Amino acid sequence: MEIEDIKKSKLLIDGDIFFDLSIKNLNWFNIGGKTKIFFKPNSLKGLRDYLKLYASRGKIFVLGNGSNVLFDDNTYQGTVIKLGKSFSKISLLDNETIIAGTAATQKKVSEFAKDSKISGLEFMSCIPGSIGGGIRMNSGCFKKEFKDILISIQLVDFKGVVRSIPANKIVFNYRSIELPKDLIFLSATFKGKEKNSEEISNYMNELNIIKNAAQPTKIKTSGSTFKNPINQTDKKVWELIRSSVLNEVSYGDATISEKHANFFVNKKNAKSADMKSLISYVKKKVKDQTGVKLELEIVVVE
Ligand SMILES: Cc1cc2nc3c(=O)[nH]c(=O)nc-3n(C[C@H](O)[C@H](O)[C@H](O)COP(=O)(O)OP(=O)(O)OC[C@H]3O[C@@H](n4cnc5c(N)ncnc54)[C@H](O)[C@@H]3O)c2cc1C
Repeated sequence: MEIEDIKKSKLLIDGDIFFDLSIKNLNWFNIGGKTKIFFKPNSLKGLRDYLKLYASRGKIFVLGNGSNVLFDDNTYQGTVIKLGKSFSKISLLDNETIIAGTAATQKKVSEFAKDSKISGLEFMSCIPGSIGGGIRMNSGCFKKEFKDILISIQLVDFKGVVRSIPANKIVFNYRSIELPKDLIFLSATFKGKEKNSEEISNYMNELNIIKNAAQPTKIKTSGSTFKNPINQTDKKVWELIRSSVLNEVSYGDATISEKHANFFVNKKNAKSADMKSLISYVKKKVKDQTGVKLELEIVVVE
């Protein structure tokens, strides 16, 4: 990577570029070393200019709210791109359709839908990620996921080419979508159904009460560590972990939440290596005890 070139063109690009920036505070686990380059574009032009200059020279990781990622302790030898404020606009296209920038939080979009009397996006109020992360992960809860409401995605590839993909051309899986990794989602169109705001609000409250009772809040976690092994067993992953692993197991400050066995927690100063050791240990124990092969839901960045 010719970092000097990037340094020279820094002032010409519409966005903020930092070198050797710590990414620890940019993810919910509060784990990770530095990134060689961190780029926060202020506009689509800035993003495309950067991609044209940089993309063929090194790797890129697109970061949303960091609520589903585990960074490494070593410096990320590439660019972490995080979309800035200008990618978080939310507006109404018609009385059932919303377009949202992918840097908007899922909570904000669900609130906007409620205020616009559009039902169907209530589940998003329980997920702490951005719209971009929600698309990539096909996030969901309470039997609803992104695929149920998504109409189209606007994106730019790492070469700087912008296009739109209709949702019916995308294969959605449980917590993943089949689209190449070299894409940055810019905005998304969602369709819901007209309903009165009070009913929507009551339903959102109900979902949040259930969610908060079942899952830990205000801790350093990335949510569900493993996917539910839906093709191997009817059991939930937390049940498999509970029955295979002692809850108090820990590696350094990496441990398992008392409230939800599939939520792993950084108690204080866990290293990425600690969290990875815990993940490997649990995976092996569950395989040995139940025969089920667990697959990670969180995205490990290396
Ligand atoms: C307390 C807690 C509760 C949670 N509950 C749920 C739940 O109920 N259901 C659920 O599905 N998930 C849940 N999660 C996981 C997480 O919140 C979701 O996966 C969320 O949608 C991730 O969004 P993010 O913006 O944080 O993505 P990140 O963690 O930043 O990134 C996740 C993936 O998305 C990609 N990505 C992010 N933005 C873009 C973009 N603009 N363009 C292209 N790719 C992008 C990243 O490269 C990465 O591969 C929970 C997490 C926590 C911490």
